[in-house]
Amino acid sequence: MKAVLLNGINTLEVAEIPTPTPGPHELVIRMLACGLCGTDRHILVGEHPAKMPLVLGHEFGGRVTAVGEGVSFQIGDLVSVDPNIVCGKCDHCLAGRTAHCRDLIALGVTINGGFAEYVLLPDTQAYLVPPTTNPLHLGLVEPLACCIRGIDLSEIKSGDRVAILGGGSMGMLLIQLCKLAGAAEIVLVTRQQERREIAEKIGATKTLDPAAVDITKELSDMDITFEAAGVIETFNQAVAITRSGGVVLVLGVAPSHERAEISVYEIVIRGLRIIGSYINPFTQARAVELISSGKLDLDSLISRTISLDELPKFLTQSPRQGDIKYLVTGE
Ligand SMILES: [Zn+2]
Ligand SMILES: [Zn+2]
Repeated sequence: MKAVLLNGINTLEVAEIPTPTPGPHELVIRMLACGLCGTDRHILVGEHPAKMPLVLGHEFGGRVTAVGEGVSFQIGDLVSVDPNIVCGKCDHCLAGRTAHCRDLIALGVTINGGFAEYVLLPDTQAYLVPPTTNPLHLGLVEPLACCIRGIDLSEIKSGDRVAILGGGSMGMLLIQLCKLAGAAEIVLVTRQQERREIAEKIGATKTLDPAAVDITKELSDMDITFEAAGVIETFNQAVAITRSGGVVLVLGVAPSHERAEISVYEIVIRGLRIIGSYINPFTQARAVELISSGKLDLDSLISRTISLDELPKFLTQSPRQGDIKYLVTGE
């Protein structure tokens, strides 16, 4: 089968590798959509640890083509994949903090993932999706599940005033989740004009360009601020614009060596809650339900589809201005 292999830092190759066969409690799917993510780019340039050689891609789904012994899925089923495989035995897993499993394995990070024609996975990671689902939307289930986790942790309430800093796919999904949760005000902050236009179309009540206005003057006393850019400057803005007792919900992955300057005094006096949200524990099934419900505008987020052959080119360059999500398709 065809796969895009990461052989070393900054070394991608479109290669022929053996098509996997499933063992007990494993299945093989024909990949139908796999999203490109900032994490893939971080791994490529060596900013995020990964095992190599490796097939990248952790945001994917497809059609079941082979099943091992003891698997309840049928050949032909459409499934979404939760890439994060937890051990279920460590102290964190046993306490329900599976995102922090001490032996976390991830498809597309530590074992082969979605940038291939076929993918092998344990049956615990597959979620049945209605056959009428647009196969492209399978590439958005995992990012949505991560956003649902962030929404859960934010404890958003009807009538809340919310700011979302960052206009990538996470920001765009958060807008829609905040709208469904009954937020009174949803402000999306991003430099890119095309992204601001899409944000307004899908539910932002207001958008701001941080290059044109001072965000800390334009916004204040937000009940919840989502940091979805993974940038220190944005995190600092989030702290500044959130009300006392409010929540700064950090979803963006900032470079690991960078530090924010934050007033510890202010955290105490203002009763700030700064909460990190990591991956998608227990939210994949709800992401499938929500996508199946048709309540989200996903098509506006899909900027282009590309082939496996084209993938190396798109992984090694930054997305075009205004683009949100690129999906690799199986065909
Ligand atoms: Zn991702
Ligand atoms: Zn564990």
